[in-house]
Amino acid sequence: MSDWPTLPPSARFLVISGPSGAGKSTVIARACALEPSLVRCLSCTTRAPRGTERDGVDYLFLDQGEFDRRAAAGGFLEHAVVFGKASYGTPRAFVEDQLAAGCSVIKDVDVQGAAQIRATFPRAVHIFLVPPSATEVADRLRGRGTDAPEVVARRLAEAEREVARWRDYDYLLINDDVERTAQDLLAVLRASALRIPS
Ligand code: ADP
Ligand code: 5GP
Repeated sequence: MSDWPTLPPSARFLVISGPSGAGKSTVIARACALEPSLVRCLSCTTRAPRGTERDGVDYLFLDQGEFDRRAAAGGFLEHAVVFGKASYGTPRAFVEDQLAAGCSVIKDVDVQGAAQIRATFPRAVHIFLVPPSATEVADRLRGRGTDAPEVVARRLAEAEREVARWRDYDYLLINDDVERTAQDLLAVLRASALRIPS
């Protein structure tokens, strides 16, 4: 038999979207703790650090000149100006270097960023995460206690726009329980590694 079946290397780029408050950060952190070969990709941003945020832990903080140079050089898999203020982007080199080293990468991006990544990185696996119900989004955002009421209201309006795009994704995770959802995320990763490339 000359054409014995083989699969490409198993490291994958997972893109996860879902409304603010769905539990993306929580589930990503748990999945990465369970699976050491899965690493989170930080965003680059031009906004200033807030509160206890640290460079390399919460974000990669860049000045606008450096961000623009990297963008022009194709250094981002996607990037956008958010709320008309700061620029944010997904660093291409981090994703490519981790995959080359055999680690899978997970990145939380909004639906527009995920749409850009479909063009710039077609092999990415796209996952949509939602809480069990619409009312749960509001409860979790208020319960998290990190946002002022007007910010919560804005996030809820955005949530409706984001959720409308769920059918564009490859997998749906309903986050009713963090542990089970993190396990489901890892199941998606394992199944993706077994897919026969087209
Ligand atoms: P996102 O990153 O999607 O905005 P977070 O991970 O910050 O969401 O989660 C929002 C809030 O919901 C946090 O207070 C978190 O502890 C809580 N949360 C996350 N997953 C669950 C869950 N399965 N059940 C209950 N609360 C959850
Ligand atoms: P904050 O400044 O409050 O941390 O984030 C503001 C917004 O920036 C978030 O709602 C998030 O959607 C967006 N954001 C964070 N990282 C990225 C990124 O890498 N790419 C894009 N396109 N948006 C991002």
